[in-house]
Amino acid sequence: MKYFVAFLIFMFAFAEAYAQEIAPQTTTVDIQSIRAVVTPQFETKSIQGQVWVRFTPLKDVIEVRLNAKNMTVADSSDIASVTAQKDHVVFTGDFKATQEYTVQFDYSATPKQALYFVNAGGNDQIWTQGQGKYTSHWLPSIDDVNDKIEFNISVIASTAYQVVTNGKLMEKETLGASTVWSFDMQQPMSSYLVALTVGEYKKTTFPSASGVPLEFYYYPEDSLKAESTYRYSKQLFDFFEKEISVPYPWQNYKQIPVKDFLYAGMENTTATIFSDSFVVDSIGFTDRNYVNVNAHELAHQWFGDLVTATKSEHHWLQEGFATYYALLAEREVFGDDYFYYKLYESAEQLRELSDQGKGQQLVAAGGSSHTYYQKGAWALHILKEKVGASAFAKAVKNYLTKFAYKNVTTDDFIAEVEAVYGQELIDYKKNWLYQSAFQAAEALESLKRSEFMRSYFELQALRPYALKDKLKPLESSLELSNDYLGQEAVYQLSGTNLQESIGLYKQAFNTKNTLIRQAIATSVDQIPDPLLYQFESFLKDESYITREQAFLKLWLYYRAKNDLQKQHELLEDMDDQFGFSDGNIRTLWLTLSLATEDYKSDEAGARYDELISYTAPEYPFQLRENAFQYLSQIQSFDRTSLKNLVEACTHHSWRFRESARTTLNNLLKQQRIKEIMESVKPLLNEKELAYLKRIDI
Ligand SMILES: [Zn+2]
Repeated sequence: MKYFVAFLIFMFAFAEAYAQEIAPQTTTVDIQSIRAVVTPQFETKSIQGQVWVRFTPLKDVIEVRLNAKNMTVADSSDIASVTAQKDHVVFTGDFKATQEYTVQFDYSATPKQALYFVNAGGNDQIWTQGQGKYTSHWLPSIDDVNDKIEFNISVIASTAYQVVTNGKLMEKETLGASTVWSFDMQQPMSSYLVALTVGEYKKTTFPSASGVPLEFYYYPEDSLKAESTYRYSKQLFDFFEKEISVPYPWQNYKQIPVKDFLYAGMENTTATIFSDSFVVDSIGFTDRNYVNVNAHELAHQWFGDLVTATKSEHHWLQEGFATYYALLAEREVFGDDYFYYKLYESAEQLRELSDQGKGQQLVAAGGSSHTYYQKGAWALHILKEKVGASAFAKAVKNYLTKFAYKNVTTDDFIAEVEAVYGQELIDYKKNWLYQSAFQAAEALESLKRSEFMRSYFELQALRPYALKDKLKPLESSLELSNDYLGQEAVYQLSGTNLQESIGLYKQAFNTKNTLIRQAIATSVDQIPDPLLYQFESFLKDESYITREQAFLKLWLYYRAKNDLQKQHELLEDMDDQFGFSDGNIRTLWLTLSLATEDYKSDEAGARYDELISYTAPEYPFQLRENAFQYLSQIQSFDRTSLKNLVEACTHHSWRFRESARTTLNNLLKQQRIKEIMESVKPLLNEKELAYLKRIDI
């Protein structure tokens, strides 16, 4: 799984996903396969299903339990009595060791989590999130990751929709308004990796170099974004098969964007689900592409899905590997400098946490995402340098082969490395696996092997110097037109005397490097007269971040000059741009146009309505968040937007919910808002009213 980068810090919430019952059932029963035919219902947000569970007791037992949260069951088995308890479905019978049984039953559930019914403005979606949320909320299964099961799922859904779940589509049978989609898996996996998506999609399919079918899903209206969204996918896939030298372990690989997803992406076996905020056009690709998440979730198909950590203590075997291998794959696409710079950034964060006494041991339960993801990646990088790339590759291959479709611990992995390396890794284990402090000095030494990083550190060392004493080296850095050296040089111009720095700014501008130019657009707060031409040309740069920054700063510039005509021209110029799918440019445009004197006053009402309309639940939460922010800045909440804000306060996405709650809290300090709220209350549902009651409104 991958978090949105900005939220990497929050604590790892899935420790309990590994929690075992006191006497784990894995020691008495092996659940071999679960076949299910499920029918999710949009209208009632519920699901019905028929399930066949095949299992073999390892000892004589009279009871077999599946995890199943708040389900009702209908018993239709003649070899067992099937009953539902609060968190389980229980088979009671006389089950003999080593004999194989299949028990069948029907169930229904109205899941509170793990299965989401999402309003996407007519294009409704259903999607799941199993890790940390438990598949057993919607499908009877086994929460314990140590029982790997072959899941074969059929889904009955409206014929208008596309259905994706794990494995290979074997059959699609249309019976009038409904279609039955039958999928087949050939290998077992942990239950948290079961996925289901239902929605309106198109797809393109092409094979990997080794012939594995790769399926890329997109919304029908996004056909022009499919190429840029999935750019480099085949290259990443082929790279992994070569680098890992264990063939991709499953029948096919599918990627499906969904609206309002909880994380950046989730590596369900053969069916990665990811946030549709990564669906980008060619310009958005520069700023927010899907490549890293794409590579991360794909790496998990081996590290996490094929071999799965036995418990939370070893979670880095999933996230550390996915993070590191994603970086190796990105190195293929974006080059060495990118690779080392990303390692450097993560080392800086880890060093800072470590210096604050917040460092964590890598092999331990309940670690933060920084520890499992970033520190885990660093532990692998150092290990690879220590034992050598070929020994490392051989050990990884042996590890994946030996434990394929099984569960693993840190010792299992280290034993494979030691076997190939021919020596014990005592100091390495002590420093990198079982030490809470981050080994910053060792990391720095490693980074310095890159010539690019040495140049970067030299440039960085100039930060304290006065501009006049470093003009030459800054100039030489800009000459290289390197993304990171160029950005660093531009940042060092911040706050300097413009007469001294103007030449360097112009040089940076003329590199034509999108990221160096972006550094100017974001780091210059107020446009000085000599840079006006540069900022005007930023409005056409291949970056929505640069365009948004330039747009806002130019508007402020013209306002400060009382140049109404220029303000109007600027608005005319930017009227047709939406920006990212969060409407970063459009929502800003609407706000600025409403704040500009005499700008097409007869259309102001329509522009205001448009901004309000983006607060509605049918839009992606990232767009709604922008609309809420701008409405609060111009103090223009009305009944509709306030009602939508209360809905947002009860949203399933934790990050959006928290931001909406903060906005609402601030608004409620105004008497006017409190009054509007009284008139909104009759329109709210139970959950929304309960939230208001909780905050005493
Ligand atoms: Zn992950």
